[in-house]
Amino acid sequence: MRKPFVAGNWKMNMLVAESRHLVSEMVPGLQSIEGVDRVICPPFTALLAVSALLEGTDIGLGAQNLFWESAGAFTGEISPSMVAEMCQYVILGHSERRANFGEIDSMVNKKIHAALAHALTPIVCVGETLEEYESGRTEEVVFRQVKMGLAGLDLRQEKDQSSPLVIAYEPVWAIGTGRAATPDVASDIIANVIRAALIDGFGDDLARTTRVLYGGSVTSENATDFFNKDEIDGALVGGASLKATEFIKIVRIAKAG
Ligand code: PEP
Repeated sequence: MRKPFVAGNWKMNMLVAESRHLVSEMVPGLQSIEGVDRVICPPFTALLAVSALLEGTDIGLGAQNLFWESAGAFTGEISPSMVAEMCQYVILGHSERRANFGEIDSMVNKKIHAALAHALTPIVCVGETLEEYESGRTEEVVFRQVKMGLAGLDLRQEKDQSSPLVIAYEPVWAIGTGRAATPDVASDIIANVIRAALIDGFGDDLARTTRVLYGGSVTSENATDFFNKDEIDGALVGGASLKATEFIKIVRIAKAG
């Protein structure tokens, strides 16, 4: 059994005071739900404030990106050890970074290597664009993103070890659009493409222990249908993670599913 996992990606939203307010609203509700890994991913500027509010809880903190180099002349970038000072998780390869900031598979790969080397759990995002979906290339694109993203990692699993990473299947056309994928389709891609790529690269044990999430317009209205699928271990939630009651509801549904 894989433990359910729900992460909230706040994207480029929330000033420090707003972040404090939102987290303070969320913590009591989130703390009361056991048996689900709950993670909040605020913008970099709010990480310190949010980490202080999460102290003493078992709610995880994640960044939304990092750079792979460890230090030096990289103006504007954030190193893995800077992230690891505050966070346990980091979202990598999000489609908004691929589309807007030129992140290609080889860059995502370097970031995943760097995150794991600093004991961060990467939440690796993969997913096809609308054009790739409409031209029937979903399987090829997602398989390639998993294989290239994880290339060169030493992830072979000892029996009963937990997986060092989480994968989120996020069809780009479903992110922030209100048009979620169907749970059947998401489950099929996770089983037959993402887990198949994990088996191909790293063997059955890693494929069996890795949590694979669905992301793309998840709300408390549609979450049950996703979490009822055995292959879907939770969600990466964008817009709906900016409302405390909505995010708590989704986490509660993940526990029930
Ligand atoms: C995301 O940002 O990863 C995401 C899935 O966004 P939304 O839930 O708003 O579609």
